Amino acid sequence: MTETFVVIGGGVGGGTAALALRTEGFKGRVVVLCDEPRLPYSKPPLSKGVLRGEEDPGRTALRPPAWYDKKDIEVRTGVAATALDVAAKTIALSTGERLTYDKVLIATGGRPRALPGTEGLPGVHTLRNLEDSQAISARLRPGARVIIIGGGFIGGEVAASAITLGCSVTVLEGQRTPLERLLPPALAGLYMRLHTERGVDFRTGVTVSSIEHGPDGLLARTSGGAEHLADVIVVGIGMVPADELARAAGIEVTDGIVVDGRCRTSVPDVFAIGDVANAPQPHLGGRMRVEHWQNAQHQAKVAAKNMAGGSAEFAEVPWVWSDQYDLTIQITGKPEPTDEVNLRGDVEGWAFSALLTREGRPVGCVAFNRADDVRAVRRIMTDRLPVPIARLIDPAEDLAELAKAYSPAAPEGAAKEYA
Ligand SMILES: Cc1cc2nc3c(=O)[nH]c(=O)nc-3n(C[C@H](O)[C@H](O)[C@H](O)COP(=O)(O)OP(=O)(O)OC[C@H]3O[C@@H](n4cnc5c(N)ncnc54)[C@H](O)[C@@H]3O)c2cc1C
Repeated sequence: MTETFVVIGGGVGGGTAALALRTEGFKGRVVVLCDEPRLPYSKPPLSKGVLRGEEDPGRTALRPPAWYDKKDIEVRTGVAATALDVAAKTIALSTGERLTYDKVLIATGGRPRALPGTEGLPGVHTLRNLEDSQAISARLRPGARVIIIGGGFIGGEVAASAITLGCSVTVLEGQRTPLERLLPPALAGLYMRLHTERGVDFRTGVTVSSIEHGPDGLLARTSGGAEHLADVIVVGIGMVPADELARAAGIEVTDGIVVDGRCRTSVPDVFAIGDVANAPQPHLGGRMRVEHWQNAQHQAKVAAKNMAGGSAEFAEVPWVWSDQYDLTIQITGKPEPTDEVNLRGDVEGWAFSALLTREGRPVGCVAFNRADDVRAVRRIMTDRLPVPIARLIDPAEDLAELAKAYSPAAPEGAAKEYA
C-alpha cells in the first residue's frame, strides 16, 4: 500500500524536507500543510529586501508551483494542522478533514513574542510572515518615526532597512548593550556602534511600560518615565516555538520539540526540525533550539533521509548571517559573553572577524564582512582540525589557509610548511 508522509509547515524547513523526500527516493504520497496562504517560502528577506520594497515577495518562494506538480507533492496552502493523534496516526485539519499518515514531520517554526498589552494595537507590529513585512513596509516612508523594541538581529535588520529608507529610527533595548547575553561585551558594543554611526537613536537599559495612541501618533512610555513618539512600532523581542501540536499529542517538549540526532521525536514516526526543534549539538555539547535558516534547511535533509528509510545524523556547527546596511554579519558556533575575543582584520573599516576561544579552544567566530573567516572556523570546528591555538589567535595568520593546512586532505607536511 502507498505510504503517506505529511509535512506540517511551509517554511524553509518544511519545503526543503518535502523536496528532499523525493531526492531520497520516497515514492509514496507527500502532503505539505501550510497555514499561510502561499507555497513554502524563505523568511530572511522579510526584514531586508522585501521590507524595503526592493525585492519581489514572489521571489521568496522556495520553488515555483510547477515544481511541486512535477514532483507529485500535494501542497495544501491556507490549511493548518489543528491536532495530532499519534495513536491513530491521524492529523485533524482546519478544513474539518482528517488525514492519515505513516510518518509526519513537524516544521511549524515559531511565532513572535508579543509585548503584553500591545496585541492588535494599530501601528504596532511583530515580524514573522509576509503579511507582517508588507504591513510594516507600507509605513516606512522617508521621515517616518520608527520605534523598534528590541535590538537583536530582527530589530537590527529592521532598523537598518528603515534608516536606508530615510526614516528616523529609535531602538529601545532592555539590556545595557544589545546582544549582551549572546556576545562578549566588546562585540556587542561594536554592534551597537554600527547602528549609532548610521543614525539610529539607540536607547539601552530601558523597558517599555505602555504604548498608546495620542494626538501626535503612537506614544511609547518607558519605565524610566521617558516618552517616545512614533508612526510605527516594531516589536522584535524574540520568538516562541510553535510546539503546541506536539505538546497536546503527548510528545516530549522542553523549549521546543525534543528530538535526537536523527530528528526523531519521543514518539515513533514523528519527526521535528527547524526553529521548533530542540536538538543535540554534537560540536557544542548539550542540546538547544537554533533559530537559523541554515539549521532548518540542513535538519530538513537529515529528517527526510531518515523518514525515507536511510540513516543520517545532524552534525552541523550552527551558522547564521544577518544583512544590515552594507554589511553581512555572520556568527558560527555558540558564543558566550565570557568568551575571549581574538580580533583580526580592519575594525574601523567594518571588515573584521573575532575568533572566540574558551579554555584554549575555538568555540565560534563573529565576522563583519569577513565570510571566509567564518567558513574556516566552521570547518576547523566541524572537522576538529588540530590547529594550534597560538596560530588561531595570531591576527597575522589567515584562518582559511590554516584550515586548509591542517585538514586531513592536506598534503603531508603542509601544516608544517605553512608554519
Ligand atoms: C524576518 C525574519 C528574518 C530572518 N532573517 C534571517 C537571516 O538573515 N539569517 C538566518 O539564518 N535566519 C533568519 N531568520 C530565521 C529563519 O528564517 C528561520 O530560522 C527559519 O525560517 C526557520 O524555518 P522553519 O521551517 O523551522 O520555520 P518557519 O520558516 O517559521 O516556517 C514554519 C511554517 O509553518 C507554519 N505553521 C505553523 N503551525 C502550523 C500548523 N499547525 N499547520 C500548518 N502550518 C503551520 C507557519 O505559519 C510557517 O509558515 C529570519 C526570520 C525572520 C522571521
